[in-house]
Amino acid sequence: MLKAFGFRKTPHFLASAFLSCIGVLLLVAGINFARGEVDNLVQQQASGLAHTWSMQVAGNAPQLPELLATPRGNSHPLGSLGTTAPSSPILGFRIYDLNGDLRVSVDQEGTPTAAPNPGYSTQVTLPIISGGKNIGTIASDVDTSAIHTLLMNAALKIGAIFSIAICILLSMSLMARISLRQEALRNTNRVMQHNAMTGMPNQRAFLEMLSLSHSQEIAQHTTTNLFLLNLDRFAHINERMGKTVGDMLLRLVAERLRLACGNAVVSTHISADTFGIIADEKTGKRMHKTLQQVFSQPFNFGQNVVRLSASIGAATSTAGHHSSEQLHRNAELALRAAKTNGGHQLITYDSDTVVKFQEIDRVATVVEDACQNNDFELHYQPVVDSTTRKLNSFEALIRLTTSDGETIGPDKFIPIAERIGRIEEIGLWTLREACRTVAGLPRHISMAVNLSVQQFNSGNLVSEVGKILKETRVDPGRIELEVTEGIMIGDADPVFDQLTELQGLGVKIALDDFGTGYSSLNYLWRFNFDKLKIDQAFIRASDHNSKARALLAKIVEVGRMLDMKITAEGIETEDHAVRAAELGCDYSQGYLFGKAIPQTSLASVVISEFAEYIRLQTGGQAKAGTDQAVTV
Ligand code: C2E
Ligand code: CA
Ligand code: CA
Repeated sequence: MLKAFGFRKTPHFLASAFLSCIGVLLLVAGINFARGEVDNLVQQQASGLAHTWSMQVAGNAPQLPELLATPRGNSHPLGSLGTTAPSSPILGFRIYDLNGDLRVSVDQEGTPTAAPNPGYSTQVTLPIISGGKNIGTIASDVDTSAIHTLLMNAALKIGAIFSIAICILLSMSLMARISLRQEALRNTNRVMQHNAMTGMPNQRAFLEMLSLSHSQEIAQHTTTNLFLLNLDRFAHINERMGKTVGDMLLRLVAERLRLACGNAVVSTHISADTFGIIADEKTGKRMHKTLQQVFSQPFNFGQNVVRLSASIGAATSTAGHHSSEQLHRNAELALRAAKTNGGHQLITYDSDTVVKFQEIDRVATVVEDACQNNDFELHYQPVVDSTTRKLNSFEALIRLTTSDGETIGPDKFIPIAERIGRIEEIGLWTLREACRTVAGLPRHISMAVNLSVQQFNSGNLVSEVGKILKETRVDPGRIELEVTEGIMIGDADPVFDQLTELQGLGVKIALDDFGTGYSSLNYLWRFNFDKLKIDQAFIRASDHNSKARALLAKIVEVGRMLDMKITAEGIETEDHAVRAAELGCDYSQGYLFGKAIPQTSLASVVISEFAEYIRLQTGGQAKAGTDQAVTV
């Protein structure tokens, strides 16, 4: 396929035609030049011949001086010298005395005086010297046609050979120039169509190849498979290890791709850390595996060992079903989906997947904007003592409302914030905000804050929490951090270590949503949780399922045994509340006691709660909502 993108053939035939013209012109010019030269030569030759002939005539005619000295009268006919008749190339001769009178005239026997070809005959006149004196002149007619023909033929041959030689030399030099130009053009073309760093075809070449593949696909009813591959967290690697290392990694990736994909496939380097692979139906099938294998081994160079992963978007078109632009867009959407879904995976385009990931993308953008503009808000859900139903604490629950007024629930945006790496800053913001809030509430009220598993990855969670506690001057004992069973995935030890350190700061640790997920009792003894929060689904199931109810009782028992406090979540009905209390749950949380409320409504809840508390304490004397009850 690459050949099709080579340099277009230079019209050599134009150069040949040009050279032929030059050759003909040279030949014509050569002939004209040769003709002039030949004429000169012929003239010289003729005068030489005439001279020899004149000498011979004069030498063989001793009576000539006398004849010429005798004045010519009318009675004197033309003289005869009695010499042999001239032979070719001398056509004849005439001798004149000093008066210019013709005294002797001899012609070739049977040959008219006029030369057969007047163009090639010449008359040469020479003085006749006798005894050191000029006694007359001799004019000899020389036939130069034979010499002319001979010389002309020779000149033509030499001229032809010469012009052919010049043509050959010229053509060689011209071809060399053309080749050099072609080479230069090829080089320019190569530079323009290739990525300078990896030497792979660049975006421009990629788009051309894609459109060519599309044309082939239509013409031959074949399939084009397009893969767009983007390295995960490459910007981060560049930042951490430097651009030189980043460039080196890109070269290594390109090399591996070239080797793994082979020649049947077009591998291109589209932009910074994105590569494009165009494959036909057969090779496309194995590409899924091949591309993922490219990253299975770490990249080693010098002292560095770097593990890379890639997000891959794949799209297919058969017999021109999609235009090349559409195919490209589909692969881009699939790539975006792979990225949004956490990277390190291949997603093949189909409309459902794309709709799903477009929504994820949309929410991701909303989250990014909210982080920039500080658009998050905390709501607080009350948690009560199961027996007394007195307010014990609040759970801080994050809220996000878009500029269009759309509310996006944390169930939806928290996992996306985790994927796009924003959860750490959101989590710390939540903690700071919740600490500030609880610092303004009566001292017996505490605050629960949810932590995402990813917040344990950075390694500085403990110090950040410590800073926030100091900054907000809240009593750490009033803060409870909730983690879910998700922390048990993979290597839980580093998480447990950090949880221990957090407990060391004085905060409490609760295991949230217990009864769902893994529900392994294994880790209950591995870490000393302060509290167990039984998931609302469990409470709900116990409504109509006696086994769930029995299990619930056992969970509470286990919690007690391990010295943990128990909270029942999702208490929506009086039945739930009674059951939770009867089972021995310490605390209850649910819509029965109140939904999460904004901070502005917090004061009134706390005041009425406190007034109720005072009322109970004073045997029903105090009135709810009195100002003296609490300072919030
Ligand atoms: P969660 O930690 O289990 O929080 C309790 C969720 O159950 C809240 O939903 C709450 O509104 C809801 N809920 C409480 N009582 C009832 C009830 O009686 N019936 C029903 N049907 N629901 C009840 P929300 O606020 O939508 O939060 C959902 C989840 O989002 C939370 O579950 C928590 O996992 C997560 N989340 C909320 N805020 C944060 C946060 O600041 N950070 C992190 N990492 N996660 C958060
Ligand atoms: Ca929670
Ligand atoms: Ca929960």
